[in-house]
Amino acid sequence: MENKKKVAFYTLGCKLNFSETSTIARNFQDEGFERVDFEEVADMYVINTCSVTENADKQFKQIVKKALKVNDKAFIAAVGCYAQLKPEELADVNGVDLVLGATEKFKIIDYINDLSKNDMGEVHSCEIEEADFYVGSYSFGDRTRAFLKVQDGCDYKCTYCTIPLARGISRSDTMEGVLKNASEIAAKGIKEIVLTGVNIGDYGKGEFGNKKHEHTFLDLVTELDKVEGIERLRISSIEPNLLKNETIELVSKSRAFVPHFHIPLQSGNNEVLKKMKRRYMKELYVDRVNKIREVMPHACIGVDVIVGFPGETDEHFLETYHFLNDLDISYLHVFTYSERDNTEAAEMDGVVPKNVRAKRSKMLRGLSVKKRRAFYESQIGTNRTVLFESENKEGYIHGFTENYVKVKTPWNPELANTLHEIKLSKIDDDGSVRLEFLSIEV
Ligand code: SF4
Repeated sequence: MENKKKVAFYTLGCKLNFSETSTIARNFQDEGFERVDFEEVADMYVINTCSVTENADKQFKQIVKKALKVNDKAFIAAVGCYAQLKPEELADVNGVDLVLGATEKFKIIDYINDLSKNDMGEVHSCEIEEADFYVGSYSFGDRTRAFLKVQDGCDYKCTYCTIPLARGISRSDTMEGVLKNASEIAAKGIKEIVLTGVNIGDYGKGEFGNKKHEHTFLDLVTELDKVEGIERLRISSIEPNLLKNETIELVSKSRAFVPHFHIPLQSGNNEVLKKMKRRYMKELYVDRVNKIREVMPHACIGVDVIVGFPGETDEHFLETYHFLNDLDISYLHVFTYSERDNTEAAEMDGVVPKNVRAKRSKMLRGLSVKKRRAFYESQIGTNRTVLFESENKEGYIHGFTENYVKVKTPWNPELANTLHEIKLSKIDDDGSVRLEFLSIEV
């Protein structure tokens, strides 16, 4: 019997990329390929690229090198956002055989023959306007959590962002499609689903040019809450202007949606927000946080923020710092602005020196540590539910409570992928929280 061809995958970037790699991998498996780890000898290596990653080109070259070190005759393909934005650049990298743009990545099987190497990287890219169809996907982060794609692309025009250029217009899965995937995930024994997309609050736009289908994000949340077998649902990241009161209220009363929100702010100064072409002012952000706190005082609220955007003065930055310091939020994800080709922001005056960007980033990362600690401290002594993960890390098993407090307890393999009622007892030196068990599986 002929040996199965082996294929390995490497994914850069966001959860959406991870879920799409899973779909591509499943297509390969359906075609008779065996999936192996990236460190193993494979006949083909597929790299799912990201345009947001700092030094994306350097990183890509290193990954190609790594693959060729394991098997110098392997066929190398690049897909994903960076492959859409800079196809020729990737095709020129030594050893790359195939580069596929946004419309072609899910048809990768059609582009490979006998896997013999090409003399030059072959590019099949597209105009991004053509990426108007929807391909559903989901992936498993570990044995306990799945990332379920519900939406793709973005119609916003934030001046620093290349995602609309790499992924195209906003479009989403049908309600039927999402519920079917959610049930499949539940049937595999996965307990938590994280909703994934580029701009998931914009859920409800159909394929092929912005036709609305009949469902909104609120409908989606309502229906998903009823899927049997899924214990937990997490909204992940949602734009503040799209996080409606109704959604917040629904989450507060929901069976499975957990009290955890991740809301991009990007700047605490309205002038900078305007230059970024964000669709809200800081006042709306405060309003969203207050609404969450009103109905879910114990909710975890994470914030994305960008430092060093062109024209961000020391005063603007300090305004952002104090704004976040005064706001009842739980942690920050800090991004240091960096210029991207073909974006409006890259042409703007007021470039902030790199060392100033680094200093601002450090200050906000320090603030994040302080915020997380204060949030964890506010939760000590409360009863929560934890979903344990499946890894043994230096003799401990970790998990997250519904409101995203990271907990740990001595390793016990029987705890993996189970839910337990616990009391949060004390913050450990490594920043995670010790617990007392209140019940066996719930
Ligand atoms: S909302 Fe703005 S930052 Fe987010 S993907 Fe759309 S354009 Fe980019």
